[in-house]
Amino acid sequence: MDKLTPEEIAAVELIIDRARIKLMQTELSFFGHILLQLKQEYNGQEHGISTVAVSVDTIFYNLNYIHKNVKNTNDMVFIFMHEIMHLVLDHLDKKRIKDRDMLVWNYAGDHVINLDLFASGFTYSGHEHILKDRAFIGKTTEEVYDILIKDKPDDHGCGCDAWVDVIPGDDDEEIEAVKDMVISAYNSHVLANGTDDGIPNSVRTMMDELKNPILPWESLLMKYIGEVTQNDFSWNKLNLPFLPEFYIPTLHDESLSKIDFAIDVSGSIDAKAFNKFINEIKNILLLHNITTIGIYQFSTVTISYDVVSDLEELDKIKFKGGGGTDIKHTLEQAARSDGVALFIITDGYMNLQLTPLHKPTVWCVYNNKRFNAPFGETILFDKYI
Ligand SMILES: [Zn+2]
Repeated sequence: MDKLTPEEIAAVELIIDRARIKLMQTELSFFGHILLQLKQEYNGQEHGISTVAVSVDTIFYNLNYIHKNVKNTNDMVFIFMHEIMHLVLDHLDKKRIKDRDMLVWNYAGDHVINLDLFASGFTYSGHEHILKDRAFIGKTTEEVYDILIKDKPDDHGCGCDAWVDVIPGDDDEEIEAVKDMVISAYNSHVLANGTDDGIPNSVRTMMDELKNPILPWESLLMKYIGEVTQNDFSWNKLNLPFLPEFYIPTLHDESLSKIDFAIDVSGSIDAKAFNKFINEIKNILLLHNITTIGIYQFSTVTISYDVVSDLEELDKIKFKGGGGTDIKHTLEQAARSDGVALFIITDGYMNLQLTPLHKPTVWCVYNNKRFNAPFGETILFDKYI
């Protein structure tokens, strides 16, 4: 293939950059969120890539291919979405691929993805050249594979552009990281848009099927954290009998970006659950503009209070569990803390005759559907792991 001139390379890179920027738009943020976490490799041809391809952590570009085939930003956007969907739909997992023919597996995935993207309203000007047999609508990648493999096409059977673009991975941690990335992208998209419109239908179904109990509570937690840090917390919801006026101005002080968590470490929670909570708190520290987090561990009294400002410090916090549950002492301390809000993580089995805290308070309550918060907001969730 002819070597591209510097001008031609610049033009290709411009198309890539414009497409990337377009994917940062709020309504496409599901894709943008994932794309931002992938490395970019512009010398795809050196890795044997003849088109655009994806591995568990990298997008590879063959600039010659893009120069020849991609004429506008919209088509590049579609290609990005297509590659990202291979990740999202778990096409790279060697444990799932097993001993299947890699080429046919790739084509099966392409049919599924392209059909889904078109059904979800996305467009590609060269649509007649890509795999999207309508006979496969509603079928899984495995089902499409089983049909395709019967006459194992040398090419993909339709005269379309061959598009080998899946680089499988077999590292369990990397495959798990991809799944977390997808859930997190889904969450941020829904939070940013207030709806899952703009997310392909197959992903919405997948999220429903996951029925991952972490999903709603994590999303809700993020929503409240967002409100608290943007000083947008709904005070009416707090249902406080009175609200000291002196408190309101401090809420608008942008320098205040500390929030407190109180984690119930009484007998009903173990170290595994505790670490799960700490992980959620890590996400909060990463995703929001919060400089400091205070963490109370409490049983019948406050057992410890750690103030951290980075992930490493968070990792050092040790679980100090055991005993009964009473949050009164911790609430008294939280009232005096300079944290702008308190998030309580508990199973909620405790005396709830409590004096309201005069700051935004959110009860994150697991395995206790009948919990009735004495004040503040409540997030109920079924499980914690
Ligand atoms: Zn593909």
